[in-house]
Amino acid sequence: MASIIDSGLRRGSWNLALDREWLRRHAAGEAPDLLRFHRSLPTASLGRHQDASRELRLGYCRDQGIEVARRPSGGGALYLDSAQQAFSLILPSPADLTLAEVLEKTARAVARGLRSFGLDARFKAPNDLEVDGRKLASVFAAGEGGSLLLHGTLLLDVDVRTMLEALRVPTEKLSPDGLAAAKDRFAPLGDLLGELPPARELHAALAVKLAKAFDLDLASTLTLPFELADHPAPFPVEGRAAGEALWKAPGGHLYCRLETAGGQCLRAAFSGDLQFRPAGWLEGLGAHLGGRPLEALEPAAADYCARHPLDGAGFTAADAEEALKQALRQHAAGLAMALTAEETAALMLFGDAAPRDTLAKASVMLVPYCAKPAWCSFRHQDGCSECGKCEVGDAYSLGRERGMRVTTITNYEQLESTLAAMKTQKVEGYVGMCCGQFFLKRHRAFQGAGIPAVLMDIRGANCYELKQESNAYAGKFQAEAKLDAELLRKVVKFIPPRGP
Ligand code: SF4
Ligand code: SF4
Repeated sequence: MASIIDSGLRRGSWNLALDREWLRRHAAGEAPDLLRFHRSLPTASLGRHQDASRELRLGYCRDQGIEVARRPSGGGALYLDSAQQAFSLILPSPADLTLAEVLEKTARAVARGLRSFGLDARFKAPNDLEVDGRKLASVFAAGEGGSLLLHGTLLLDVDVRTMLEALRVPTEKLSPDGLAAAKDRFAPLGDLLGELPPARELHAALAVKLAKAFDLDLASTLTLPFELADHPAPFPVEGRAAGEALWKAPGGHLYCRLETAGGQCLRAAFSGDLQFRPAGWLEGLGAHLGGRPLEALEPAAADYCARHPLDGAGFTAADAEEALKQALRQHAAGLAMALTAEETAALMLFGDAAPRDTLAKASVMLVPYCAKPAWCSFRHQDGCSECGKCEVGDAYSLGRERGMRVTTITNYEQLESTLAAMKTQKVEGYVGMCCGQFFLKRHRAFQGAGIPAVLMDIRGANCYELKQESNAYAGKFQAEAKLDAELLRKVVKFIPPRGP
């Protein structure tokens, strides 16, 4: 018999701690199957494998009293508040289903439950429910021993601004247009139905279909069978990793960070918004790689992957091997160009070619407008008179000396059109500068062009720092980023001069 509980509105950390504790007890045979409905006070909920400072605006969360908590389940960061109905289903792990199949089955059961309100919600892999292409719900999974936690969130309403400000999303989404467009991507139940059904009816509709899908007998329970006295987060939420390589798997992002010394890997760490089991697979891979010579890392990763089966939703062991390969390439590029550790960490490489080969063919340099002083008349347009008052002038002069075409990128659309034109013109390689957040969040622009690139992170204020973001979109961004002219000089050295 499975317990069904409505634990109401609580702190997010309390809800997550209860999930973890029930899952632990269930795996130990000390707690029954469970279907629990719950809602959370404002909480930024991190996926099990995510890096907090990359995914969240921690300062904003602190200032606004938004709790930061880490889920036992994988997947991306969520903003939770009282306007989201969540459920946690804890049951024996279905032996015959992959993780992707379990997520799909759960989402489809929720969709069937919503049909009683006249809604036609569709499953979108790997873990969402949508109505007319707009997101209504998501499901996540965490395993422990032979037990599984399935966690779902259903939007009753959506506070898009707080959500986008708490989560580290690209700045343009915080402009009035961006907010309107973002709101349009969600389909909260209240908007779809005009009026929310009573919570009891909604719970009953979902419970019937979830119980049917997983063959559970549900019995209402009014009290928790154990006390949840203390609930510290079991996983650290801080710890921004520097110098990471990014790999995009079909199910999400994966970052690999290597700390090295004298040809040895001191520490390898992976993070990302992926869903997979066993949950400790990535930590295990990192531990397996730490302490080995760098040249032994790829074979060691292959060995680990072969010996430790992975069940991922849009994520395979090959993705982890690719992320490691990217991190090793970044490291090798730093060595080849005699860069310091900090400079190596600032490199962002795109494409499979060795960075020195990319540089040998590079004919274009892309510079971000935000590195030009706010007072400069070239701030929001292409060009620079090389007046010597900022590092952009150095970039233009270095590019000119090598016969490169230097372009200032003033917005995302212009970046896309510039890259598309470069592709048409068969540009074989380019160098560029942008902030790391832009590279990570807007990877598809670089992927779409498919041109090998050596990109460099910029320093100083960037428009992902919250308080300047809407201004940035409106072209009134006053903060100034800085190019690392020294790093640029070291990199450009490997670009051969071309004739006019
Ligand atoms: S160097 Fe170029 S971008 Fe910098 S202030 Fe002078 S004109 Fe403006
Ligand atoms: S800080 Fe500069 S490079 Fe980064 S997103 Fe803003 S404008 Fe673009």
